Amino acid sequence: MPEGHTIHRLARDHVRDLAREPLQVSSPQGRAVETARALDGRSFAKIDAYGKHLLYRFEDDLTLHVHLGLFGRFRRQHTPPEEPKGEKRLRMIGERWTVDLSGAVACTLIDPEEEAALLSRLGPDPLRRDADTERFVAALRKRRIPIGAAIMDQKVVAGIGNVFRAEALHVNGIDPRLPARELGDERAMVLWGTMAKMLADGVRERRIVTIRGADDKPVSAGRATKGEGPRARADRVRHRTVHVYRREHCHDCDAPVVRSTMASRTVYECPVCQPEGSAGPSPTPSLAEGEAAGRLF
Ligand SMILES: [Zn+2]
Repeated sequence: MPEGHTIHRLARDHVRDLAREPLQVSSPQGRAVETARALDGRSFAKIDAYGKHLLYRFEDDLTLHVHLGLFGRFRRQHTPPEEPKGEKRLRMIGERWTVDLSGAVACTLIDPEEEAALLSRLGPDPLRRDADTERFVAALRKRRIPIGAAIMDQKVVAGIGNVFRAEALHVNGIDPRLPARELGDERAMVLWGTMAKMLADGVRERRIVTIRGADDKPVSAGRATKGEGPRARADRVRHRTVHVYRREHCHDCDAPVVRSTMASRTVYECPVCQPEGSAGPSPTPSLAEGEAAGRLF
């Protein structure tokens, strides 16, 4: 599932490509015909992203809600577009660009009440300027579940998925099994700052890069070698850009990375950098100075 940085990136890209021009909106696959009819010929001025949700603000107070889920994706092409192939739920044709949406779990108009209900189920989003950090800290204080499960709960913090979970806990030296309420307010704020910084880097870099170089900028994934296949490429990128996620050995100390299941997904941790019961800081800190988080929106 795309994590929050992908959603905020899409919001920026779609505003750049499609905003403030009347759009031809259709549902080639036929499952969003009513929605498409209501939006056809209208323009949107802005898009609000909350965690993994996108809200397109169309004229006449119409709001299109999109949630990609596991399989949803957008594809972009120049206008005029090719004939739609496959299951295209929604097509938006602008003057220069056409965007197709397929496989999403939500693609409907929502009214203000439904939107309020949706947002009430979401925790603060570290990429939003209006994020209420205190809500995150308070939510952790109340939870006995492991911190690694708590930050995957979109009611606690919106936009964190499996990669950011592994990486944000790692750089702060936090044991994923530590009960959330034992983290403490101060460490919770540091973790929040790390997540905000990692997400913001993700929006800028268009990928998750949690390792920073001496210049404090996200490192590059390096160049492909000749004849590099997709698997080798994924290994190279991971080796360069993340600390523990899907790695065999920890980037910081080279200890074998331990895998287990938590909140239905594999959690990756280094038992040396994240000792049992640890709330951090990491014995090999690299990105733990997350308090100086750069926020984007
Ligand atoms: Zn380590």
